[in-house]
This record gives sequence, C-alpha cells and structure tokens, in this order.
Amino acid sequence: MSNYAAPLEDMGFVLREVVELEKLCSETGLDASTIDIVDTVLEAAGKLAREEIEPINKPGDLEGLKINSAGEVTTAAGFKDAYHHYVEGGWGSLQFDTKYGGQGVPFVVAASVQEMWHSANMSWGLCPLLTQGAVEAITHNASDELKQRYLPQLISGEWSGTMNLTEADAGTDVGALKTRATPEKDHYLIRGQKVYITWGEHDMTENIVHLVLARLPDAPAGVKGISLFLVPKILVNDDGSLGEANDLKALSLEEKIGIHACPTCVMSYGDKTGAIGYLVGEENKGMQCMFTMMNNARLTVGLQGVSIAERAYQQALSFCKERIQGIAPGYQDAGPIIRHPDVHRMLATMKSITEAARALTYTACAEVDFAAGNLSDEEQDQHHRRLGLLTPIVKGWCTETAQEVASLSLQCHGGMGYIEETGIAQIYRDARILPIYEGTNGIQSMDLVGRKITGDSGLGIKELILEMKSFANQTSLDTLLSKAQLDRFKESLTALEEASALVLNNSENKHYVGMIAFDMLMMSGTITAAWQMLKSLEKAKAAFENKMVSSVFFESKTKSVGHFVDSILPRYLAHFTTISSTSC
Ligand SMILES: Cc1cc2nc3c(=O)[nH]c(=O)nc-3n(C[C@H](O)[C@H](O)[C@H](O)COP(=O)(O)OP(=O)(O)OC[C@H]3O[C@@H](n4cnc5c(N)ncnc54)[C@H](O)[C@@H]3O)c2cc1C
Repeated sequence: MSNYAAPLEDMGFVLREVVELEKLCSETGLDASTIDIVDTVLEAAGKLAREEIEPINKPGDLEGLKINSAGEVTTAAGFKDAYHHYVEGGWGSLQFDTKYGGQGVPFVVAASVQEMWHSANMSWGLCPLLTQGAVEAITHNASDELKQRYLPQLISGEWSGTMNLTEADAGTDVGALKTRATPEKDHYLIRGQKVYITWGEHDMTENIVHLVLARLPDAPAGVKGISLFLVPKILVNDDGSLGEANDLKALSLEEKIGIHACPTCVMSYGDKTGAIGYLVGEENKGMQCMFTMMNNARLTVGLQGVSIAERAYQQALSFCKERIQGIAPGYQDAGPIIRHPDVHRMLATMKSITEAARALTYTACAEVDFAAGNLSDEEQDQHHRRLGLLTPIVKGWCTETAQEVASLSLQCHGGMGYIEETGIAQIYRDARILPIYEGTNGIQSMDLVGRKITGDSGLGIKELILEMKSFANQTSLDTLLSKAQLDRFKESLTALEEASALVLNNSENKHYVGMIAFDMLMMSGTITAAWQMLKSLEKAKAAFENKMVSSVFFESKTKSVGHFVDSILPRYLAHFTTISSTSC
C-alpha cells in the first residue's frame, strides 16, 4: 500500500503559473509576501499530512468512533493528537482576517493546503472544513459581539464548527425544517432535532460552535421563515472563559458506507430547558447567511474530489509498478502491469482528470480572493458572477469524476482492489459521499441552469465562453497541440454556447431544464476543465523555458493535457447530444 506524498510540484505550478498568484496578490491588495513562502508552506503541510494525518487514516477507518450514554464521542486513536499539532502549527487560520487572529493568506493557497488534509484522511479533514464554513458564516453575518467572542477560537482551531440544516423530513427541501427558536432576553431557546451533523460531537476541541437553522414562532412558511443561530456546546462567559454546558447533545452516530472515523451525528437541541442560541444576521434571513457557509463548503467539497482523485491515482500508480502479471505488447518477459496499454489508459485517465480538476478548483478558489479584493464595483461583480457559476461546476464535476478515478484505481488493483487490505476500498467508500452532501449533484446542476445561467439572463456564462474563445484564438497552442485537438476545443465552445442558448430559451419549461441540467453541468465541467488544461500546457511551456519547472514536469504535463483533450474532452459531445435531443 502506498503512502500519500503531496504533489507539491503540480500544486505550486498551478498556484504560481495557472492561477497567477503574484498577479492575484497585486490586483486584489493581498499580502504579496505569500508568494515567497508558498513552497515552504506547501512542504510543511505536506509533511504534516504524510507523517501524522495519513498514518491514522486506515486505523481510523477500522476503529471508528465510540459514543456513550451521555452522548460523548471518542475519536479514533491519534485523531486528537494530529488535530492538536494542526492547531499548534496555525494551519486553521491561514486565510482568515488578521483582526481575529487569521494570517491573511489568499484563500486559494489555504485551499491547496486543505487538498492535502483530505487526500491524507478525509474523515479527519472534514472537521477543519466545517469550521472554516462556520467562520465564513459568522464573519459575513454575525454581530461584532459574536465575532469577537467566537471567531478567534474558531480561526485558531481551538474550537470547531458545524453546520446544522438537515432534519429527518427536511433534506434537500430545507424549507420544511421544524426546529424552533423562541426569543428570550438577549438570546433564543432552540428546540429540535438535526440529522447527519458532521463532527457534531467529538473530543478533539473543548468547545463546538453549532450553526443551526431554526424557525421563529411567527415565521412565514418555507425558506423565507428560516433564521440562523449560533449555538455553542459550552456557553461562553462575558470574559471569554467557558461556562456551563448548553442544553444539547448527540443522540447517536450514523453507521456509514465510508468516512468511518468522522462522527455523523443525530443532534438534539433543547430537550430540557431549551438550548441557548444567538441570532446570526437578521430574523428570517437565515438561508442567505447559511449560503455564505454553503458556497464555501461546496467549493471545498469539490476540492475533496481533487484530493480523493489524487490519492486514488497515487495508490494505483504505485500498485501498477509493482504487480507483475503477463507479457505486455513489445516485451519478452512478464513484467509490471503498468506496461499493459489498458492499464496505461486507466492511469493516464486518472492523472489527467486529477490535474484538470485541481487547476479548475484552484481557479474557482482564486475567484473567492478576487471577489473579496480591493477592486472596482464592476470588477467585483464580474468575479462574483464567475465564482457563482464555477461553484456548482466544481462541486459537481470534481466529485463525479472523483468517483470515476476512485473506481479506476480499484480496477487497476484487480481482485486486490476489492479486498480491504490494500486501502483502495476505503478510498472508494469514502469518496461516495461527495456527490451527496453539501447539496446533491442534482441540486448543483439545478443551481447551475437555474440561478447561475438563467438567473442573470446568461451574462455569466456568455462572459465565460467569450473568455475561453479568445483564449483558444490567441494562444500559441498550435505549436503544442495538433490542429485537430485545438479544433476539438473550439467546437466544444460552440456546443456550450448552443446548449446555453437552449437553456435560456426554454427556461420556463421546468421539466426540460430539470431533465438536461445534469448533462449541462457535466458538459460545462468537461469543457472548463479542458480550458484549464490548455492553459496549464501553455504556462508549463513558458515555465520550462524560464527554468521554473523541470523537463520531466513539462513532458508529463504535455502528455496529461494531450490525453485530456483526446480522451476526456470528447465526452462533452455525448452530453450535448442529450441536451439537444431531449424533447422540450
Ligand atoms: C455523511 C453525511 C454527512 C452530512 N453532513 C451534513 C452536515 O454536516 N450538516 C447538514 O445539515 N447536513 C448534512 N448532511 C445531509 C446532506 O446534506 C443531505 O443528505 C443531502 O442534502 C440530501 O438530502 P436528503 O438526504 O434528505 O435527500 P433527499 O432530499 O431526500 O433527496 C433524495 C434524492 O432526490 C433528489 N431531489 C430531492 N429534491 C429534489 C429537487 N427539488 N430537485 C431535484 N432532485 C431532488 C436528490 O438530488 C436526491 O438524489 C450529511 C449527509 C451525510 C450522508
């Protein structure tokens, strides 16, 4: 079984050359000193991931979690120690506001670091992921008093955060939720039950800050009557010290297909006197506040897709170099299975999808930095539009392709892939949640065609297609790709334009739009990923000429991009055919 080694060269390359970190810092007013320390940061994070977080991945899967009658959850051996080292290293605070103890590093750099946590150990990585979402929601919506009281400990990672939307009868239909909030003095009393709450209870931090959606007594029905509350596990005194336990507990833990070491809790609020909660944002505006958290989490779930794909690829590569089986074409003796063309196909597919997903995801994460940057209103609007458009694409495409890559990796292992011992079975099981949580991929595709494409009458998608077209026409790619390859990319852009027009022209036909939404998401994902791969190739060439990357890296990137354009990009055509042949 392989150990995980962070792909530092590709991460650094995407940050520096594809995302153009230097330009991003200078245009947005972010601290440019980050550029000098990127390699050091990535290397140190890679060390923590490899030496402390990865080694507890498989044992954690086998050991799982324990819950006692008081609802206290004990995490698997080593989880707590690894988490404390993460906090001590200041890893939780990278991208946050320096006013509350953050380090002000660009979000895209923090995202590259997070990629490593999820590759090393997805169960463990989900704890910081949820905390990051809670910090976002509080930063953008809470009062100064709440920010001062809760943000420093959440940002440092001393406390963790959760996100409580789902109830037994309110999943995708969040508006059906029944948890109640009754006003009392300066706070509210929360009563209700939430299900599937990730890291809802555990022993890694001394406090857990739950962000809970609930309904006020006179609230309008549906999503318009939902408010957001901050409900701490342990109440915080005026001087910042921890006080009494709040009236909430974990009732049970879900038995799941994967992420066995991540507590997925049924949470009960207010069984006795009512759990004390504080309003975040305005009454009945909870969904808007929660969306700050959900949008961030959607991008990072897409990032988890990249992580899982990277880990699955590394594992397959290492296995295929060692497993001896049969004589491959062009060889005289039995040798490692990596020599067989079909195994080569699987590995090339895994590698090119993973690199494309990384470039696409980091590009979307950079939009978070641009959107928050020191820019003109018009520029900011444009970055918000791009971020909005790319978020469901990243969440949907990168998590769907992660299933494919995990499955291909398992396939490369043959029968051993189906046996738990190799570890690939765990990766395959862990990956399966990605298209489900944070809004199923069905919901992501509806978001893409509804809110993101139709919502602004096609402005965002037209801007994106225009940018990709001008890139295809202006670049010097013709020396790096064949005419047929470049033409394929250009044809895919014309198809995306036509598919978008079909969506826009039939936006009132909800059945049609719903039927083709998923194909639209996968088509958009395939094409935008191809765009990022072509950009990577162009940048890799320049970086090689400037001695910024090795010839080995440049050759490997050239092959990876070639494989993507020849074997993955043509998938757009199947999606386009479905979109255009589905009857309106
Ligand atoms: C391991 C795990 C961790 C989770 N963590 C959290 C967490 O921390 N916090 C939290 O609040 N929730 C969490 N969830 C809940 C998760 O977000 C929901 O499971 C998910 O949103 C889907 O809701 P549901 O399970 O009720 O499925 P349903 O809503 O019943 O959906 C079932 C199917 O119907 C489809 N569907 C439903 N409505 C529509 C529609 N309007 N249009 C098109 N298709 C539709 C869905 O796409 C899906 O395929 C977690 C779930 C799991 C399994």
